Order: sequence, then C-alpha cells, then structure tokens
Amino acid sequence: MLQYLVILLDDTSVAYCHAENPLRERNLIPLDTLKKAILFGMKENLMIQYVYPDYDLPEEYNEVIESIDHVKIGRDVAVYSEVPKSIAAENAVLRLSIADFIAKQYDIAAILPQVTRLNICLTDTETFKDEQAEDYKKALATFNAVLINQYKAGKQPQLNILTDRLQLKEMHNCGAGDSNITIAPNGKFYLCPAFYYDEKMGISNRLNHHKPSSERSVGNLETGLQISNPQLLKLDHAPLCRICDAYHCNRCIWLNQKVTWDNNTPSHQQCIIAHLERNAARDLQQQLKAAGFSAGEEIKSIDYLDPFDVREQF
Ligand code: SF4
Repeated sequence: MLQYLVILLDDTSVAYCHAENPLRERNLIPLDTLKKAILFGMKENLMIQYVYPDYDLPEEYNEVIESIDHVKIGRDVAVYSEVPKSIAAENAVLRLSIADFIAKQYDIAAILPQVTRLNICLTDTETFKDEQAEDYKKALATFNAVLINQYKAGKQPQLNILTDRLQLKEMHNCGAGDSNITIAPNGKFYLCPAFYYDEKMGISNRLNHHKPSSERSVGNLETGLQISNPQLLKLDHAPLCRICDAYHCNRCIWLNQKVTWDNNTPSHQQCIIAHLERNAARDLQQQLKAAGFSAGEEIKSIDYLDPFDVREQF
C-alpha cells in the first residue's frame, strides 16, 4: 500500500540513495505541477517527502510546500557525499563508495554521536567483491564499539546498517513503487528518482520488451499511477527476499534491474553486504544484551551470506 510521495522539486535535487543524480541543469517543478502533486498526496493520504536542490526556492513555492505535512530531504534530513567534520542536523544521510566507507570509518565514527540517526548509503554496491568482506566486517565492528559506548553513556544513536535490524521483526525495505512513489518536475510518476535520472540520461530501458526506449515513467498527474504488473515489485513475488531475514536490507529495485535485469531479483553483491550487516547487528545485539540493554528479538546464527546459496533449504 502506498504511504509516501517523494516530490523532486528540481532536476538538480539532491541524490539521497544509491543512485547518483547526473542532472546538472536546474529545472524547477512548475508551481501548478507541485500543487497537483500535493493534491494527489492528500487524496491518497500519503506522507510527502520533498527533495530539495541546493538553492533557495522562490517564496511562492515555500508557501505551497508548507501547506501540507512533509519531510524536507536536503534540509531537515541533511545529505552528504563526503564525510563532514560535523553534522548540524539530527538526521543525516551519508553517501559513500564502499572503499571510502572502509577507509574513513574512524571519521564517520567520530560524527555518529552528533546525530540521532545516520543513514549510510553505499553508492557502488554493484562493484562489491567478496574479497572486501573482511574489511567491511571490520568497519562494522568499529561502529558496534562506538554504539556500545554510546549506549553506556545513555545515548542511543541509530545507524541504519546496524541498529535497524535490532528493531525489525519482518522486512522493512525501500518499497519503491510499492510503499512509495516519486513525482518528477515533468509531472510524471517514477518508481524512484533513479528511474527518472535514467530516463533523462537516455539510458535504454532493458526491461521494456516492446521497443528500445529510455521511458521509465509509470503514469502522470493527469491520468494517474499506472504500474504494470505491480505484484512483480512485491516481497511475496521475490523468491529469495521472502525467505531472507536481513530485514533492514534496502532491496533496491533500481539496483536489481541494473544488475540482474529484473526488478525483484537481487544481486549477489546486495545480498552479501546486507548479510554482513545482519551478522554484525547480531554481534551488536549480543554485546548490548551482555551489557544489560534490551536489544530486540534474538537474531539467529546462520552459515550463509547469500540466500541464493541455500534456497533449497527453505
Ligand atoms: S539480502 Fe538479498 S535476499 Fe535478503 S532482502 Fe536483501 S536483496 Fe533480498
């Protein structure tokens, strides 16, 4: 069921997830389109998430934006593409390559106590090599040590890749095209911002079997949302993910279509990373419990990192 409407206010709105925003020319959403998008959100009872560019919007936009409850990504939620010295916002997204995440783990650890929530977003998941697993595990252990110290000091900062799994009893993934949908400045719907970027960049839609095209939209504000075969985005149609307990995994459908040519089939890389995090969350849970903190339902020990390798057991 749809719950969130992401509104890209400009073509240069900040990238806040796996995909880079390659668009460099400003293209502000027309005011009339913004009003229609808000109306759509109101009618469907959706929480609005505005995604901001790095410039100030005209005053008439601010009035319209404030006419409905919302979250401002790129404002309330700060987004960084390199490790900042300090973070002013309570809630931040840090987008980094895997190599940078590993190399800068101590710099990131230093800013973790400054926020209520830090979301790490790896920008090159598809390049992950199994040989990087040990280094990734060590970086996660670094953050576990910081989190334990923070708990002991009476604080409980959230780090998405470790603490989310402690709280979850079922899958809680990105949900693009399922629990959220994106509206772009052109008034069209997209499964998420990355699909809009691909269309704008003319990247061929290999999942369009009818004719070569970069078209990615799934409807528009005039005719409504039109996702063909929406069941093919859902967890119950994902044979691997539905047997998996890396409940915090993004299950990024954009990454899936890029790497496996199927929206609902994950790549080995995505699964390995999510399971290294899941197992590190298990370590964190055990350390927290040993220190007298409650840390959610027990995360079981498993002997695989990719559910594809054990699919026959389920
Ligand atoms: S780890 Fe793999 S199988 Fe599990 S939810 Fe993520 S993408 Fe799906």
